[in-house]
Amino acid sequence: MKIGFIGLGIMGSAMAVNLLKAGFQVTLWNRSPDKYAPLQVLGATVAPSPRAVAEESDLLIAMMATPEAVRAVRDGDDGIVAGLSVGNGFIDMSTVDAETSRESQLLVHDKGALFLEAPVAGSRKPAEDATLTIMTAGDRELYDSALPVLEKLGKKLLYLGHVGKASAMKLANNLVMGGALAALCEGLALAEKSGIDPSQLLEVLDSGAVANPMFRLKGPQIVANGTFSAAFPLKHMQKDLRLALRLAEESGLPLFATAASNELFKAAMAAGCGDEDFAAVSRVIRK
Ligand code: NAP
Repeated sequence: MKIGFIGLGIMGSAMAVNLLKAGFQVTLWNRSPDKYAPLQVLGATVAPSPRAVAEESDLLIAMMATPEAVRAVRDGDDGIVAGLSVGNGFIDMSTVDAETSRESQLLVHDKGALFLEAPVAGSRKPAEDATLTIMTAGDRELYDSALPVLEKLGKKLLYLGHVGKASAMKLANNLVMGGALAALCEGLALAEKSGIDPSQLLEVLDSGAVANPMFRLKGPQIVANGTFSAAFPLKHMQKDLRLALRLAEESGLPLFATAASNELFKAAMAAGCGDEDFAAVSRVIRK
């Protein structure tokens, strides 16, 4: 199967490496060409546009930053959709809203091709280790035929039904993550202000009911209060909280804690932390 891969950021680059190591023929496109070199060493080829990637591939995967970025590579004369043929598959693994995915599905179906939305849980390391959780929704036929590819990217795969369900699952997952990380930062700041060694709070948390891998990973980084090299960029967490709030608004569901977390992450964006890891939100709380 010939695979096209578009979007070589933190996640996309690691995922494309895994596909190449698994022996797939991979054609690439990325807005910034500086991302190509390490993948070309592994045998990837580069095409001049998203459309050209789609024309050369049976299955196209995109891993873009935002809904706007998906539209930028999907639409227009040089976009993915323009290059799709009958029977091709397009899997959008970016975290976007249901509206963007529904739009994608309609455009892809118009070309006689198949569509899946397939956002992932897991950050840089799980992407490198091919241990992502992949939540899919859309055309079941494409899920079944793409399984050998998806299995090279993740360890847990879910098929959830019609388009919109996977993006909703992903946004629900991330609002829990964002809220939990904000609570961790506030707890550590309170410990520090109270003259307690914050590392001891991490020990207490780790020995109780809220122990979790994210606290174990991010806790020491927050206590060290250095620079937060991005595994999951803060700007993407704020985007996910914004999209979760918008989704909840559609059904009239109030999300009090998520609204507060979103304001906190917006303040961190305004403070210039958008490109750092989402743990950099601790800086705003400490101030
Ligand atoms: P990233 O490092 O910021 O990469 C984003 C990609 O989108 C890059 O290839 C970037 O191209 C491209 N892009 C952005 N705006 C564009 C535009 N207007 N036109 C064309 N290309 C554009 O993001 P990431 O961390 O890999 O995340 C990708 C997606 O996965 C996001 O939706 C994120 O929420 C989600 N996600 C991330 C993580 C994580 O831990 N990092 C975990 C789970 C899910 P350039 O290289 O040219 O900038």
